[in-house]
Order: sequence, then structure tokens, then C-alpha cells
Amino acid sequence: MLAELERTGKSWYDVRMDAQTPATPVPDRGPAPDFQDITLYDIETGEAFTFSAKEQEFYWRQGFTNVPKYTPERRKLKRLERTKGKELYNVRCAVCGKVGRILTEPTHPKKTLCETCFMKQWNAFLEKHPDIKAEHEAAEKAAAEATALYQQQTAGLS
Ligand SMILES: [Zn+2]
Repeated sequence: MLAELERTGKSWYDVRMDAQTPATPVPDRGPAPDFQDITLYDIETGEAFTFSAKEQEFYWRQGFTNVPKYTPERRKLKRLERTKGKELYNVRCAVCGKVGRILTEPTHPKKTLCETCFMKQWNAFLEKHPDIKAEHEAAEKAAAEATALYQQQTAGLS
């Protein structure tokens, strides 16, 4: 898919839209609103993280209605935790066509991506936006440092 992106000059979002069946057209959201970087706080740790304008655009194009509640690093951890011992739903990935499994019943089955394709597209998105990638890396580093400090401070407490 990355090769196709290079060849056609399309964004992954366009490619995903092409993968839709004609029976379920997904509305083109058009030009993005003028998002501004905002600072959010992890709802459990209070740690600040940036929800960048470009990231907000990504969320908006995905149709996500909620802002992230946790730092990027903790979001990743929580997703791993959630998948343990939960019932999974079979869905057909809109990009690769493989049947994958997700945690919640899909509200838009034709728009659903498998984990692999989602991460590929997210990573491709990050590669095209080095500033966001750097923010994520910085956020992950900060989260790792905060976690280490927290563990150091709480070591021996019970
Ligand atoms: Zn896929």
C-alpha cells in the first residue's frame, strides 16, 4: 500500500476511501477546520500531552468524536490490556480485505480497518508529518521517564 501511495501521490485517507464499496459511500469531509494544538491531561495521571492540530485532523477524518484521555504511551498500554480475555468481533478490513478481529461491535463495518492496516496507515501518516512523529516520540519518552520516576517514588510503598 505504501508503494501505491508513492505512485499515486494519494494520502492513505484517499486510498482508504477508494477501498470502500460504492454501496456505502463515505462522505468526503472536505477541507479540515483550522485546528490548533491543544494541551490535554491524562485523566488518570494528570500528565500533560499535546493533541496537535494535525492529530486532531486525523481524528476528525476518522470520525472520532472523543479526544484522547491518556498520553500516547498509556493509550498503547491500555489497548494491549483491553484485548486480554475479551470477546472479539470479526470484521473485514476495508483496505486489505482480510477478516480481522476488533473489540467492539463495529458501527461502520465497511469503514473498519484491521489493526495492521490502521497502524500501517497511522505510521505512514506519521512519516509524512515528521513534526507529529517527533511529538509522539517526545511524548512517549516523557511518559517513560514519568513512569520510571513514579515507580522509583512508589517503590517500597504498599
Ligand atoms: Zn487490513
